[in-house]
Amino acid sequence: MPIIPGIGPCLRCLFPDEPDASQVANCKQNGILPITPGFAVPIQIAQAIRILLGTVTPGIMIRFSVWDGVARSIRVSRNAHCPVCHSLRP
Ligand SMILES: [Zn+2]
Repeated sequence: MPIIPGIGPCLRCLFPDEPDASQVANCKQNGILPITPGFAVPIQIAQAIRILLGTVTPGIMIRFSVWDGVARSIRVSRNAHCPVCHSLRP
């Protein structure tokens, strides 16, 4: 999901409650399926180009599972009470 400060939602808008770090798995402990970065990087590059061209739509998160072969887009809205981005203006 491209994060454009003051225009679109941030990660805290999506995940309002920060999880306890001890309760969250991480790549160092659990590893990462090696093909995942090869799938994610082209999508991120395309989103970066769209930001530069001014054609990106803020708040669209692309979620995919290379394991299950499933991809989908999810619309994320700004949280008016977000402690991170609520005071940012475009
Ligand atoms: Zn936010």
